[in-house]
Amino acid sequence: MGRLDGKVFVLSAAAQGIGKAVALMAAKEGARVIATDVNGEVLKELEGTPGIETQVLDVLKKDDVEKFAKSVDKIDVLFNCAGFVHHGTLLDCDEKSWDFSFNLNVKSAYTMCSVFVPKFIAQGTGGSIINMSSVVSSIKGAPNRFVYAATKAAVIGMSKSLAVDFVDHKIRVNSVCPGTVDTPSLRGRMAAQADPEKALQDFIARQKMGRLANPEEIASLVVYLASDESGFVTGQEFVVDGGWSM
Ligand code: NAD
Repeated sequence: MGRLDGKVFVLSAAAQGIGKAVALMAAKEGARVIATDVNGEVLKELEGTPGIETQVLDVLKKDDVEKFAKSVDKIDVLFNCAGFVHHGTLLDCDEKSWDFSFNLNVKSAYTMCSVFVPKFIAQGTGGSIINMSSVVSSIKGAPNRFVYAATKAAVIGMSKSLAVDFVDHKIRVNSVCPGTVDTPSLRGRMAAQADPEKALQDFIARQKMGRLANPEEIASLVVYLASDESGFVTGQEFVVDGGWSM
């Protein structure tokens, strides 16, 4: 028996990294997974996986999100995973960068919740919403993560508000706060540095366990929060950072 048997699990940013690991683990645990991503090419890698349906979706486009929501007849779990890491301090963050980060990291989750929360309510069966934050947020500062931390702190606040407002509808809302996870975008950020090997060592050095997380270590927390095992858990931020913030 799977831990997510019978559940419909919708997520964004499923083509790679943490989202992909979550899609695969959720399907393995028996969920019917609707895996969405803006990148249709990479998303194709999930096609044909038992339990997974793929759908190209740009979470920045409200009309597309609304259309997508209409195509989903039942939902038990919503995982808002899409996000972007802007590198730099206040001095590197122009208004365009600020807006892009807030639009992708925060507003997209708001858009998804605003179309799916009414569905959860109408179904009357409750559900679990999991929002992707980061330990770099209201929990911890890190160099050159100015707007990123601001967005991820906003995700924690938004999740707590949703949790309070919809607890009577049995909708649980939690956020997930990873440390540094070995994903394609992290590799891309390292490759963009003058010395990628040094960049890797610097990322590892800030992790107290002396290694990066793998995406599955985050996925297992998301699956727990999606499952009925976490039925008494809501409004919390879950740190999974190898001890970075301790
Ligand atoms: P990633 O950055 O490697 O991949 C992100 C995915 O998001 C890609 O498949 C991309 O196509 C998709 N995406 C980008 N814009 C989109 C849009 N407009 N609509 C739909 N999909 C879109 O993945 P990752 O590193 O696993 O990061 C996933 C989430 O986890 C992000 O929110 C990130 O901030 C968060 N996070 C990552 C780390 C880390 O170290 N990797 C740590 C903490 C939090």
